[in-house]
Amino acid sequence: MRFSGLRVLREGLTGNKGWAPHWRDPEPKAEYDAVIIGGGGHGLSTAFYLAKNHGMTNIAVLEKGYIGGGNIGRNTTIVRANYYLPGNQEFYSHSLKLWEGLEQDLNYNVMFSQRGIINLFHSDGQRDAFVRRGNAMRAQGDDAILLDREGVRAHLPYLDFENSRFPIYGGLLHARGGTARHDAVAWGYARGADERGVDLLQNCEVTGIDIENGAVRGVQTSRGVIRAKKVAIVTAGRSGQVAAMAGMRLPIESHVLQAFVTEGLKPCIDHVISFGMGHFYISQSDKGGLVFGGDLDFYASYAQRGNLPMAEHVMEAGMTLMPMIGKAKVLRSWGGIMDMTPDGSPIIDTTDTAGLFVNCGWCYGGFKAVPASGFALAHLMATGAPHETAAGFRLDRFRTGRGLMDEEGTGAQHNLH
Ligand SMILES: Cc1cc2nc3c(=O)[nH]c(=O)nc-3n(C[C@H](O)[C@H](O)[C@H](O)COP(=O)(O)OP(=O)(O)OC[C@H]3O[C@@H](n4cnc5c(N)ncnc54)[C@H](O)[C@@H]3O)c2cc1C
Repeated sequence: MRFSGLRVLREGLTGNKGWAPHWRDPEPKAEYDAVIIGGGGHGLSTAFYLAKNHGMTNIAVLEKGYIGGGNIGRNTTIVRANYYLPGNQEFYSHSLKLWEGLEQDLNYNVMFSQRGIINLFHSDGQRDAFVRRGNAMRAQGDDAILLDREGVRAHLPYLDFENSRFPIYGGLLHARGGTARHDAVAWGYARGADERGVDLLQNCEVTGIDIENGAVRGVQTSRGVIRAKKVAIVTAGRSGQVAAMAGMRLPIESHVLQAFVTEGLKPCIDHVISFGMGHFYISQSDKGGLVFGGDLDFYASYAQRGNLPMAEHVMEAGMTLMPMIGKAKVLRSWGGIMDMTPDGSPIIDTTDTAGLFVNCGWCYGGFKAVPASGFALAHLMATGAPHETAAGFRLDRFRTGRGLMDEEGTGAQHNLH
């Protein structure tokens, strides 16, 4: 089923009765060439690119819940390529380019909106750091514009520029950054993979990984045993638990990240604003809700909901930055489980078990990575070699200490990234 303006018009005039489900609901086969554990953004995009780029279509995505129920449907939808370190830079730059062609690629409206991101700074030292970052972004071929205080004011007049603790000195504008509708991204990739023959198996929890003579043979699931010579663990906050089924201990800690949305308001914020000093960021959804969030809940947890101290912290930071937000009513808050690595950068790699792959460690920035992550893991699974944009995301950097990519210079504490 192809989408077009004409089709939308026809369906609108005939009671929307002609739409078919976006993907099939197949029974599991006994064996696939490859299975992907986890039907989040990264698992679905991996399946899509395996089929599209490498012609591998006898594959299944195994999802313990429903498509879009994990972090892919819980994030604050920010897409950007404003990384500083080699290794991360080329990967996120590639991802942004894939985002720019994604709707045509998927024939699906993911509401990708390049409304621009402004990262605020509040001291001379921070300005220097942003100048360096902006130069690195431009050297990579991406965009960055340094704004002084009046430059920020021209875009965001409602901020509190004179706050005594965090006076605004300026900001770094990344104009190609923005937002996308998160669950549409999951649905678009799911539909694209399904169209190419991939089986999407929902309510199919993986409960064991079968390994013989050092090679993966398949998985045990709540819907029976499924054999496969290639298995990828793409389970975000649950990566540690699933990898343990293969006897692995990943360098991952799972933490809750919360987000909040207000009632719908008239358009008032037309960028994404990031207030790093207050651990606060905000944008406005197409429905009008102000969508915002902050830092992780600091304790490790598998609960998909957060706790009040961080909610209070986020509200305080919001009021510090833009007192006008005090008038908006918060409708909902929710949490997702973040897979935090010690250097804050992700892992896309093979493992010591032949045929077993891992894709995890996205910390709280894995939404923007969805296209390039699936692209790179599909490349690794199909060819056996890492894709050039993801060659640094090796698992053994945490054992050897070589190749660590600590973007924020925060040190080896998972929850500080
Ligand atoms: C509040 C919040 C805000 C965020 N904001 C942003 C943002 O603005 N920008 C950004 O880039 N990133 C953001 N992120 C991070 C981003 O959402 C995640 O890094 C990314 O979605 C993780 O990858 P995923 O989509 O594959 O994860 P998920 O959607 O969580 O997919 C993993 C799937 O694995 C399944 N699974 C787990 N165990 C099993 C099993 N045993 N068997 C079968 N299936 C299993 C789960 O059910 C889940 O569906 C945010 C996250 C949160 C929670």
